[in-house]
Amino acid sequence: MRILERTEELRAACDAARAAGHRIGLVPTMGFFHEGHRSLMRAARHETDFVVVTLFVNPLQFGAGEDLDAYPRDLDGDAAAAALEDVDVLFTPAVHEIYRPGARTTVHVDGLTEGLCGAARPEHFDGVTTIVAKLFSVVGACRAYFGRKDAQQLAVVTRMAADLDLPVEVVGRPLVREPDGLAMSSRNAYLSPDDREVATVLYRSLCAAAASIESGEHDAERIRAAIVAMVDEEPRVALEYAEVRTSDELERVDEITGEVLVAVAASIGGTRLIDNMTVQVSTEVTTDLGVIVERRP
Ligand code: AMP
Repeated sequence: MRILERTEELRAACDAARAAGHRIGLVPTMGFFHEGHRSLMRAARHETDFVVVTLFVNPLQFGAGEDLDAYPRDLDGDAAAAALEDVDVLFTPAVHEIYRPGARTTVHVDGLTEGLCGAARPEHFDGVTTIVAKLFSVVGACRAYFGRKDAQQLAVVTRMAADLDLPVEVVGRPLVREPDGLAMSSRNAYLSPDDREVATVLYRSLCAAAASIESGEHDAERIRAAIVAMVDEEPRVALEYAEVRTSDELERVDEITGEVLVAVAASIGGTRLIDNMTVQVSTEVTTDLGVIVERRP
């Protein structure tokens, strides 16, 4: 595995790989790898020939007062993990390598960035799309792997790549959880033992929401209220939002049909965590005669 720090070295390595006929798989990250990151690396390894993992704690996507300086870092551990996943290039640029003085361009995706996490973090997604657009530009034609843990980010990046005609196929991969259901996150490292214990309420509330939807509750407001009530039972957990949206364009939903995303964000002891679940409305109903028939969503 090569560890590169310069943008032009990364561009040259990717150009050479493509010239040799290799398909490139890109995994953008902020490091402190866990199984969620590693599942993306494995998918890229499996489906492409030349795997590039980028590790950059992107200042542009952190707001004032957020955890940029405290964000967990472990370059040696991350390099060892990436090598175990048979990654070809680990790109670890310094901030000044990415953001040169005098830069005036950012990338903004309208609409999709406004609700959910965008409500509390108004500049966050512009930071994400700007760094991801720059990485796509340097790496060039590739498949780029993102986790559904960050469902809104995946929707925003997919839209950006389409709208800007970027030669990148954006691939979404499943959310990876701890054995007790907590969504894996680099930020879980901040949680005290007591906070870690109650953090599973997010997963539990999503499971309850999914079960309720699947058993016929299709009123989004009632699903939302049930999540709020369940999270409220944990005084250490401050819910930021609980929402039901369409799973692709993230539009607000009143009556749940087809496939929806149920998404939550909360702060636990000052640590902001997000989680979500995609739920498909059951297409089966039992008639008076006890016969199961298919219902079109
Ligand atoms: P991050 O380092 O947190 O910016 O995440 C880098 C990539 O890993 C993003 O595409 C995330 O969505 C993905 N990721 C983070 N946590 C998970 C998880 N628990 N399951 C799946 N993917 C994840």
